[in-house]
Amino acid sequence: MSLRARLTIFYSAVLGGVLILFGLAVYGLISVVLVRQIDSTLQRTANDLIFVIRVDENDSFTFTQRVSLDSSVIIQIWDEDIDLVAMSPTMENDSPFRQPLDEISLETNETGYRNVTIAERSYRVLSVPLSSDEMPIGILMAATSLTIVDAVQSQLVSFLLVLSAIAILVAAFLGWANARRALAPLSILTDTVLSITRADDLSRRIPLSTSPEDEVGQLIVAFNDTIGRLEELFLTQRRFVADVGHELRTPITVVRGNVDLMRKMGVEDEEALHSIELEVEHLTRLVEDLLILAQAESGKLPMDLSIIELDTLLLEVVSQSSVLAAGKVTLEIGEIDQVAVCGDRYRLKQVILNLISNAIKYSPKESKVLVGLSQGATHAQLQIRDFGSGIPADDLPHIFDRFYRGDKARTRSLNAPGFGLGLSIAYWIVRNHGGQIEAHSEAGQGSTFTVRLPLNSDDCLPDLDIAAEASAAPVDPKSPPLADKD
Ligand code: ADP
Repeated sequence: MSLRARLTIFYSAVLGGVLILFGLAVYGLISVVLVRQIDSTLQRTANDLIFVIRVDENDSFTFTQRVSLDSSVIIQIWDEDIDLVAMSPTMENDSPFRQPLDEISLETNETGYRNVTIAERSYRVLSVPLSSDEMPIGILMAATSLTIVDAVQSQLVSFLLVLSAIAILVAAFLGWANARRALAPLSILTDTVLSITRADDLSRRIPLSTSPEDEVGQLIVAFNDTIGRLEELFLTQRRFVADVGHELRTPITVVRGNVDLMRKMGVEDEEALHSIELEVEHLTRLVEDLLILAQAESGKLPMDLSIIELDTLLLEVVSQSSVLAAGKVTLEIGEIDQVAVCGDRYRLKQVILNLISNAIKYSPKESKVLVGLSQGATHAQLQIRDFGSGIPADDLPHIFDRFYRGDKARTRSLNAPGFGLGLSIAYWIVRNHGGQIEAHSEAGQGSTFTVRLPLNSDDCLPDLDIAAEASAAPVDPKSPPLADKD
């Protein structure tokens, strides 16, 4: 059964239940009011009669004055010998009314009201025992027909039944229409999901026809966000394939061109062979980088963990990089604390080397690059600072993305022959070590890259679930300028 039908039935049933309770309450209240009215008429009549009844010395009943009785009230007076001594004149010839109106009260001799059936009609009877000088002398019975009460009750039942039926039908109709309106976005959602699946078009979004605050609105917003994220991932995937294709095309073209040239010339050309060698090296590096990145992103980067003295490693990388910096920038070592971390020496060296070579690469001549290492309460903090032109604010959120290269890097590709994978690899290596990497930069002021790594733990074992985080790879174009992906 559909949700819409279930909602409609549920609300109609609730309304039906409420109406039944309401009907019972109205029915009971009206019955009580009517019966009370009848009881007070009977009581008043009985009081008037008792006031004028006398018993003489022969135990005969007499009336001190004439009483005008309510025509709807039937009176019977029975003496102690259960002889009918007086009754309403209008009923004298009606045999059923010559019998005691209320047999039970006659036997029990108690005051009280009782509903009885006489000649197939309902009557309300008030019985009042009579006494003289505290001696019982008989019983007075006053009765009136309950026909009006019965008629009112049966009409009320019919009225309530019709009213309830109409109310339930109207509620069912309105509930059906309302459920249809409220659930309409869900149908649109289903249609959109199906159309996305059929057309393979992730750019579609579900129109927000309700408030974003209500449940359906929240579902639509969440769904649109999910589709947005999926679209982003697909675009990234597509861009990645395009980027790899682009990176591969140039070296392959160069290699093929040189091979063709040599074939045409029919001789081995040393310059062409050198060019081929360079391009093959370039391709090998690209393939290696892609492999590392794929392994790091999926958390499957093989890591040879051991306790690393980060200060020693840093000094080693600085010393190796001085060849790279020679004649261009001065490598300055700032404050260096002795810090040990648990990690893969080769991978961490790769990170530091990448950051220092980037700092040298993007620094103007005769500037300096500052490296430092400090120990915090839980982390080692490594900083590499340059005084180059800095990273434009638009680029900053993307520098850890795969194949992302700033404008300068792209236009100067001969001097800066990177693929835009270095920082991506660094990001994932640091994450595989349970650390964080951030970049701060101001135009014209230079850039500072900070790497935080957890201090050495006793077991020195990897306990990271990188695979689960891989879907949160640094590809979000809306991520904050700070490139910390935590
Ligand atoms: P690349 O091979 O292009 O250097 P990276 O992943 O190492 O690739 O860096 C990505 C981009 O980040 C670079 O193209 C450059 O625009 C920017 N970048 C990285 N480090 C620096 C730096 N120290 N100063 C300025 N820009 C930098």
